[in-house]
Amino acid sequence: MAKYTGPVCRLCRTEQKKLFLKGDRCKSEKCPLNRKRGAPGKDPKGRTGKRSEYGIQLREKQKLKRMYCMLEKQFQLTFDKAQRMPGITGDNLVQLLESRLDNVVFRMHFATSRAQARQLVSHGHILVNGKSVNISSYIVRPADVIEVKESSKKFVVILDALKEVSKSGTASWIDLDIDAQKGTYVSHPRRADVTDLADIKEQLVVELYSK
Ligand code: SF4
Repeated sequence: MAKYTGPVCRLCRTEQKKLFLKGDRCKSEKCPLNRKRGAPGKDPKGRTGKRSEYGIQLREKQKLKRMYCMLEKQFQLTFDKAQRMPGITGDNLVQLLESRLDNVVFRMHFATSRAQARQLVSHGHILVNGKSVNISSYIVRPADVIEVKESSKKFVVILDALKEVSKSGTASWIDLDIDAQKGTYVSHPRRADVTDLADIKEQLVVELYSK
């Protein structure tokens, strides 16, 4: 699957928001945003001019898309699906993004970033309801059980990533058994429960794609 391979911290600097794309580094002093690095480019202080309505909507979409490590086409397809679902399109979009297998693996702390989670999935280290699934965009359903494959349970990257549980806990919609490296996606999260998207205005994304 196609993926962005450029420098990821640059993406955060462009948005001037932590998108948490590099695992542990994002929480350390090494994060360029902790060191108050400005937007990339010739003007390190970034734009000071007023953004157009389109510009604001575009930046919001880019933030959300980049947080979930998606390219434009995948993201657009996810949005189209959200639009066809009953209910509020913005909430549906967040639900679809949250229920992607790579994201659930990240939320279960089997990986320190979504990019690393995607790699675990595509390399066949993850089982869904006992069956190997190597499609990172696979949509996890409530009550699905996600686990690390038996032969991968001693992987240092996974064991290190699981140490994060003691620091930050698990999401309320995830039931995790750390020792078994197995978790249940109990239910879809309510929008308000996805606290790391608290400052994302998905309605702006809806407005952008509805033009
Ligand atoms: Fe973004 Fe993480 Fe890089 Fe900080 S360390 S700029 S949060 S990817």
